[in-house]
Amino acid sequence: MRKPIIAANWKMHKTVAEAVDFCVKLRETVLTVSGVEVLVCPPFTALSPVSAVIKDSEIKLGAQNMHWEEQGAFTGEVSPLMLKEAGCDYVILGHSERRQFFGETDEVINKKARAAFAHDLLPIICVGERLEQREAGETEAVVTAQVNNSLSGLTAAQVDKLVIAYEPVWAIGTGKTASDEDAQSVIKLIRSLVAEQFNPASAEKLRIQYGGSVKPGNTAGLMAQADIDGALVGGASLDLESFWGIVKAV
Ligand code: 13P
Repeated sequence: MRKPIIAANWKMHKTVAEAVDFCVKLRETVLTVSGVEVLVCPPFTALSPVSAVIKDSEIKLGAQNMHWEEQGAFTGEVSPLMLKEAGCDYVILGHSERRQFFGETDEVINKKARAAFAHDLLPIICVGERLEQREAGETEAVVTAQVNNSLSGLTAAQVDKLVIAYEPVWAIGTGKTASDEDAQSVIKLIRSLVAEQFNPASAEKLRIQYGGSVKPGNTAGLMAQADIDGALVGGASLDLESFWGIVKAV
């Protein structure tokens, strides 16, 4: 049985003070749920302070990106060692905003995924088609290439622990959510790709989230789908009440 995982991707939002305040309150609230993993992914500056606040709680910590090298002349980058030291359990890789605005390719995302596992960080690998690709009937081909290339060379034991987030780009920050059935159909495809590339047992263990305009009101329908194991939440995760509404709806 896969444990659902609800992740708050705050993107470039929240100062240290705001992030700490949110997590002090979340820590008290989270005591009241079980059976769902709750993860916060603040900007780099807030990772260590948030880590101190959620220490010894059920809340997990994730970063939103990282470089694949441990150190070096890479101005502006942050390494897996640094994220580990800051207390991270997870790292989001290949978010569509990284692909779109910072030119990340499947090859880069694959390097980062391997580096994450090498440093005991669990990657959340993001995939998803753009609007014009969906309209051109290319969703399946686009997602297939993203999954196959991003996971290349991982071991089955690593894939067991991996999280994939299916985030159709046209649903991110637009208020348009994929229908429960459309999200389920692509996520089922992703699971079958992993079964082919690795093995059926790993595909059964792998958790796959949906992301894109997830709100308290649409969470239950998405989570009722057989292959959807949680959500990667942007805008609605910035407000504690709405993020908590999503966690409770799982
Ligand atoms: P929204 O929930 O704001 O649509 O963002 C989704 C997302 O990109 C999460 O990573």
